[in-house]
Amino acid sequence: MIPTNPIALVTSSVLSAQSKFQILLEPFLWKKKDSSSKVSEASAVESVSGFFQRHFGQEVVDYLIDPFVGGTSAADPDSLSMKHSFPDLWNIEKSFGSVIVGAIRTKFAAKGGKSGKTKKASRSSFSFKGGMQILPDMLCKNLSRDELSLDSKILSLSYNSGSRQKNWSLSCVSHNETQRQNLHYDAVIMTAPLCNVKEMKVMKGGQPFKLNFLPEIMYMPLSVIISTFTKEKVKRPLEGFGVLIPSKEQQHGFKTLGTLFSSMMFPDRCPKDLHLYTTFIGGSRNQELAKASTDDLKQVVTSDLQRLLGVEGEPEFVNHFYWSKAFPLYDSSYDSVMEAIDKMEKDLPGFFYAGNHRGGLSVGKSIASGCKAADQVISYLESC
Ligand SMILES: Cc1cc2nc3c(=O)[nH]c(=O)nc-3n(C[C@H](O)[C@H](O)[C@H](O)COP(=O)(O)OP(=O)(O)OC[C@H]3O[C@@H](n4cnc5c(N)ncnc54)[C@H](O)[C@@H]3O)c2cc1C
Repeated sequence: MIPTNPIALVTSSVLSAQSKFQILLEPFLWKKKDSSSKVSEASAVESVSGFFQRHFGQEVVDYLIDPFVGGTSAADPDSLSMKHSFPDLWNIEKSFGSVIVGAIRTKFAAKGGKSGKTKKASRSSFSFKGGMQILPDMLCKNLSRDELSLDSKILSLSYNSGSRQKNWSLSCVSHNETQRQNLHYDAVIMTAPLCNVKEMKVMKGGQPFKLNFLPEIMYMPLSVIISTFTKEKVKRPLEGFGVLIPSKEQQHGFKTLGTLFSSMMFPDRCPKDLHLYTTFIGGSRNQELAKASTDDLKQVVTSDLQRLLGVEGEPEFVNHFYWSKAFPLYDSSYDSVMEAIDKMEKDLPGFFYAGNHRGGLSVGKSIASGCKAADQVISYLESC
């Protein structure tokens, strides 16, 4: 179980006494290491493991950072770029050196501007009654039906600067390929993954606009197993949001990345006499296992939950979702991805890109990225 605040961390048994001291002494240890000029040169492409190792030691990487990034990005701390995965901490180091000092000072500075209540609310996990699908459903409800083309695939986009309005033409096809449409807009916010954008045909002023400058992105595969057990079959039903399993625990036979205790967080997710669990398998840690059959994964999940929570017997219900490209990998070459997105926006007037390939993988970050793109569209239209 991951402690959710610094006091819980120091009083928990997750880390050895030596690592706890290393965390407390980080402001002093950091200053000692800051004299190396090599560190700042290398930090532009430094891995997540390298960064946290320098500040807090290997045990923190193995037992806190590794399970955290495994559970939130399906990646491993050696492959991830610190700059792109944890930009706030990366910037804190640049400004303050010590992560602990920087985090405390940033928190106090933020408290000066905002009420603590607002800050807390913006950080907690959230969902909706009925699940996350409510979010797109409500967005659809608030737009009129003729403003939406649902279940449609964009095949091509064309920009023509002739008129002052509706410079963009989009051609799309319905998912059963029976209907084709040509649509006209003043601006475009693209939120499809870049691997899909690469397949689109883009024209500018009647000439092909080649997207061959978009780099190849690595994506992490993931399987998600939803399982339920009757409450009496769960002998140790832990409280909390869930468990994240460090890679090192694979040597003790654990195969999953982690499990969310979904019905503990959101009791409306299943009948009262059941516990509902959401388990993640695969990622960079075990790419082949992500592709395994539902029956095989059911056994893997049941075995891990048996050891973690003391579940007995088979789950009452199992559902399986496989994501071949669950998350883009923010790796050491991710600067080139950001540059390519900037180039698309610069060379194509009225074209903006948003989503989890830019500025963060989570739903919250994706929404923030969409809001930023919407502001850019407004500025663009006002300047036309
Ligand atoms: C298994 C899993 C669990 C997750 N859990 C969490 C979590 O607990 N909390 C959290 O914050 N985040 C979580 N995430 C991350 C979250 O899902 C993403 O941050 C979010 O979905 C990204 O939104 P997006 O709009 O950028 O991309 P996506 O949700 O990937 O949407 C892109 C859309 O583009 C569409 N598209 C592609 N090509 C075309 C085309 N040619 N024409 C039209 N449309 C096209 C796709 O069909 C897709 O609907 C999870 C992700 C996965 C895979």
